[in-house]
Formats: sequence, structure tokens, C-alpha cells
Amino acid sequence: MQTIAEPRNHYGRLKLLIGGAWVDSVSQDVREAFNPAKGEVIAKVPFSVAEETDMAVESAQAAFEKWREVPILDRVKYLFKLKELVERHSEELAIINTQNHGKTIEESRGDLKRTLENIEVAIGVSYTLAKGITLDQVSPGIDVTTAKEPLGVFSIVCPFNFPLMIPFWFLPYAIVLGDTVVVKPSEITPVPMQRLGELIQAELGLPPGVFNLVHGGRDVVERLIAHRHVKGVTFVGSTPVARQVYKLAGEHGKRAISNGGAKNTVLVMPDADLDASMPNMVASFFGNAGQRCLAGANLVSVGSVHDSLLRKFTSAASALKVGYGLDTGTQMGPLVSSAAKRRVTEYVESGLDEGAKPAADGRSLKLLEYPNGFYLGPTILDQVHPDMRIAKEEIFGPVAGVVPAETLDQAIEMINNGTNFGNAACIYTSSGKSAREFKRRVDAGNIGINIGVAAPSAYLPFGGRRDSFYGVLHAQIDSVDFFTDKKVTISKW
Ligand code: NAD
Repeated sequence: MQTIAEPRNHYGRLKLLIGGAWVDSVSQDVREAFNPAKGEVIAKVPFSVAEETDMAVESAQAAFEKWREVPILDRVKYLFKLKELVERHSEELAIINTQNHGKTIEESRGDLKRTLENIEVAIGVSYTLAKGITLDQVSPGIDVTTAKEPLGVFSIVCPFNFPLMIPFWFLPYAIVLGDTVVVKPSEITPVPMQRLGELIQAELGLPPGVFNLVHGGRDVVERLIAHRHVKGVTFVGSTPVARQVYKLAGEHGKRAISNGGAKNTVLVMPDADLDASMPNMVASFFGNAGQRCLAGANLVSVGSVHDSLLRKFTSAASALKVGYGLDTGTQMGPLVSSAAKRRVTEYVESGLDEGAKPAADGRSLKLLEYPNGFYLGPTILDQVHPDMRIAKEEIFGPVAGVVPAETLDQAIEMINNGTNFGNAACIYTSSGKSAREFKRRVDAGNIGINIGVAAPSAYLPFGGRRDSFYGVLHAQIDSVDFFTDKKVTISKW
């Protein structure tokens, strides 16, 4: 086994980027960020005090006045440079992503690819969608134009599970369209964005204040939303917070895109090609140790497929090599924190208490090389009933609940009414008719057909419904309309 070298094993006390300068926070509220694979602290995270959060917004507002006047074809040049910068430092950023989050290096490289893809699509946006509409001669001598104008400062609030990719669902679009941003990474995984911030600050030459970075939790987020200069917030995280953020944004009259949690079903029909689908199906549940909003959570077996599905799925999942994501051959990393491990373990216990049967139990996994890491092995609970807590609530870990169903109709009913989440749902089948029924009737934003993680590329909206999403416009390409407002001018000459 080889281990990829870590650039550093401690990233010090993180700083804030305000108005183009790195600032040492005066905060006394300093938390620890971990390398979850080793259970070691890798950074100290000061939670910005109110004055620092305000300064970040004010510097973004001051920058906006000038940035909006920069022609879009000049703004886009910064994104070309940003793309080149991220590409050049991709491997370093992927390693830091793995160090702080715990996912495997391959998974981190995948995050970096999607990060780059969003920069590329934002570049394309500036040439296409940012154009307005012109209608000449709507009446004699009267012409109409509709321009998309930037609005000002936006705050970008991020979850722990994609420390680089998720900020980039929004950041490049906001900037190229003429807005300015204050990014607040997750306090659990702030290190990758901090490093990218250092690179941007050192090499991109962006005017000061266009991109600001603060650290913190609830207080910082609420202050950002309430600040009079903040025009809107993008939020990605758990459902209770997503709902709270959406409500608060509404109370302050702000725009909001608010993505929440998930409980995704992977449904398997008796006519599915199990052998061909198995690697993809296993990756759906156990990729990123199940800490993905598109991860499979309930594995619904329809009719006679149950026994062979359970056998093949358990055998493939149990063979996954769990370990440090920087060690070659590792296929699944740890959970992000000891609290996350505790929460997921409690869900497993609750499932067993309610009568589920363990087909694979990852609770006893111990890694000799990393005794302090937050590991939990792939866990599969069979005979899960739709009414059990583990079938309804988001677990966010490497746990699959196998839920038997008799028919496709019954399975679709479970998806639509068994939980109130609507992020993703997937079907494995060789029947076009079943696939079509599923696609049309399931109430979720992302549908996979023989695909276990239905992740939309950057040129598509990142959907979500019911308790998985609050808002109208979505992340990625949809955010073009979020970050701009339409101004109609009617003129007569
Ligand atoms: P979280 O809700 O705990 O935190 C998300 C962000 O909100 C963090 O930056 C945090 O500091 C901040 N925050 C926490 N409490 C807050 C409060 N009361 N008010 C304002 N801000 C607050 O989420 P997490 O644990 O970091 O991320 C995992 C969750 O994110 C899962 O539920 C997952 O499904 C979800 N997620 C959803 C999507 C999606 O697109 N729908 C994508 C990724 C992750």
C-alpha cells in the first residue's frame, strides 16, 4: 500500500478574506477541523465576529459598484484564469479535500472535475444566456429591450460534504454576471476552500472585495442574510436549516436558493441486470461513505428479485476496502466527524430495535493503522418497513435499508408518500415501460434510470423537490436567472 503525500498535516488558524486582504479574526470562538481518517485536528477555525462579517459584506458591496461596470468579456477573462489555476492545482486541492473530508482521492478528483465544469459552463453563460432580448418595432417607432443586470452582494453558504464543488455551483456564475460574493464554507470542512482562496488571492488578480471568505456557523449565516447589502443567499445543507434559511431570507425580502437533505430510493425490478448494475448500485450507497445528497438510502426490491439482490449487494458492499482516502486501493473513507459516526450508529441501532435484520454490520470495523479515525463499514439492514425511522429519515452514512415491495406501483407510492424528501430516485430495470412510469410518476428532482447517482452536469439545473428544496431557481445553470434581474426598457425615437 502506498500513501499519497500530504502537503501539510496542519493548516494552522484559518483566516478571513475581506476586501482582498487576509485578516486574522479577533474571535474567541475557535473550533477544530479534523482529518477524519486519522481523527486528528488539521486546522483551527475562528468563527467571524459580527463586525468581521459586516466588513466582508461591505467590501463586497464597495467592489460591486466597480465590478458591475467591468464589461462581461473582461470579467470572463478572470474565469479563464480561474479555470487554469484550479486545473494546475487540482491534485493538491483534491488531496486537501480528502484530508479534511475523508472521501477517497478518486472521489476528490471527481469533485474537482465538477468544480471545473461549473467554471467552464459559467464561461459559456457569459457568451450566451447573459444576453438580453431585443424586440424592434413592437408599435410604430417603439423598441423594447430586456437586459439582465447584476444585483449586488450574494452570500454562498456551504455544507461539509463537497467542500469545493458546491461553492462552485454558484460562485463562478455570480462573479461573471457582475455580482460579488461572501462565501461561508462548512465549519467542519473549511480547509479546501481556504486553500483555493489563497490561490485565488495570490494569483487571479480579481479586484479586491469581489470574492470574500468568512468562517462560522449559524450566527454568521443569519447576519449575512440580514445585512441590508446582501441581495440573496444560496444555501446547501440539511432540511431543518434549509427551511430556516429560506424563511429568514423571505422575512428580509432576499432571494434564496435553499437545498435541503434527502432520502433517496434505489428501486430494483425483477428484470434488472443485477450483475451489470452492481458496481454502480453499490457506489450509489457507499460512495463518499453515503454522505451525498444523491446517495441511495432505501434499496427497494420489487417482487422476486429480493433474495438474489440482497445476496449480490451484500457480497459486493462487504468487499469494499475501507480506509484512508490517500492510501492506494481505498474504496470508502470514514464519516466526516465523530458526531456523524455516533448519529449514524444510533440510526443503525434504532433500525435493529424496530425489527430490521442485519445483512452487513459495519459498526465493529476497526482499522489498525488508523485507530482514531471515524470509520463505519458498509452496513445493510434487510426487512426494513416503510414506517421505520430508518426508512423515513436522512441517515447520511454508509447504511442501506432494504425495503421489500410487491409491485412497482407500491414502490412508487412509498417514494412519493413514505418520506417528504424529493431529491433523487433511481430505478434499475430492462423494461422501458417501467422506466417511463417511474420517471413520470416519481415526485423527485433527479431521476436515474439504470444510474445509481443521478448527478446533473453543470449545464443542467440541480433539481430537488418537497423538503429537499426550497425556492424556484436551482443551482448551476439555473443560477443565471437567480444572480441577475431583468430590466425592461421601452423606447420611442
Ligand atoms: P448543515 O445544515 O448542518 O450545515 C450547512 C451549513 O449551514 C453550514 O455552513 C453550517 O455552518 C450552516 N448552519 C448550520 N446551522 C445553521 C443554522 N441554524 N442557521 C444558519 N446556518 C446554519 O448541513 P451539513 O451537515 O453541512 O451537510 C449535510 C446536509 O446537506 C445533508 O442533509 C445533505 O443531504 C445536504 N446536502 C444537500 C444537497 C442538495 O443539493 N440538496 C447537496 C449536498 C448536501
